Amino acid sequence: MTDSQAVFRFAPSPNGALHLGHAYSAIVNFELARETGGRFLLRMEDIDTERCSPELERGILEDLEWLGIEWDGPVRRQSEHFDDYRAALEALEAEGLVYRSWLSRSEIRRLVEAREEELGSWPRDPDGAPLFPGSRDETGDPAEPHLLRLDMEQAIARIGMPQYWQEGGAGPGGETGPVEADPAAWGDVVLARRDTPTSYHLSVVIDDALQGVTHVVRGRDLFHSTSVHVVLQELLGLPRPNYVHHDLVLGDDGRKLSKSRRDTSLRSLREAGFTPGDIRRTIGLADRGSATRPAG
Ligand code: GLU
Repeated sequence: MTDSQAVFRFAPSPNGALHLGHAYSAIVNFELARETGGRFLLRMEDIDTERCSPELERGILEDLEWLGIEWDGPVRRQSEHFDDYRAALEALEAEGLVYRSWLSRSEIRRLVEAREEELGSWPRDPDGAPLFPGSRDETGDPAEPHLLRLDMEQAIARIGMPQYWQEGGAGPGGETGPVEADPAAWGDVVLARRDTPTSYHLSVVIDDALQGVTHVVRGRDLFHSTSVHVVLQELLGLPRPNYVHHDLVLGDDGRKLSKSRRDTSLRSLREAGFTPGDIRRTIGLADRGSATRPAG
């Protein structure tokens, strides 16, 4: 690998079967790597050890092979790297940017309702979930199950705003070019869950850095998460990749595909007689000359 070589990745969670939306992401990343003389890495985001399984991972590898996608180097599994995430958490804890929380889901719901009653409304994050209504003043028994949250206000104060990322695709509102991060919109995000010693946000930024990923090309549904990723990169001194958030493949009903919709799983389409070429035509990648190009 040379310093100037672009590094792309596809990072599915093996907690269900791949669908057409995953095929789109995987093909675009693979082909961008090929076209630019770069590398294409495969990463299993399997931090949820309850819902992810080796069988589901095997299914994903089979689907990718069927599509003609080849990855460089070994597959990285997040479940084999909990130490990396722990070390980052310890660094953030040492800086006083992380706090423990014992509140259950139902306690959080009640707190949100109380705030709504008191204030008339309570802010939602970009995914539509209420912001965490608690604070770092919470106390509890460290031996009892708890999660770790980022103190977003302090994190923002530490890194200083504004912060930007380079967007080579587009956000839901057409945002492109340098995009100003808005991490406050997420509140105190979870960095380590009760059931697993990390979170999506934490592991994705650490792995992208450890794997030397230069271009994160992923679905537009993750556009707003990038604001959190920018904060963590800045706090942990990690390089910032370029980002491309691409169109989502929608179902016939115009809604986002999900792993629970069997009709669009690659396996069921394959079993129904679809060829890899049919898949490409279905998702508009038969002639990929005009597909998203990465910035930078
Ligand atoms: N693991 C995430 C997913 O399957 C993708 C993460 C990313 O591309 O940043 O939706």
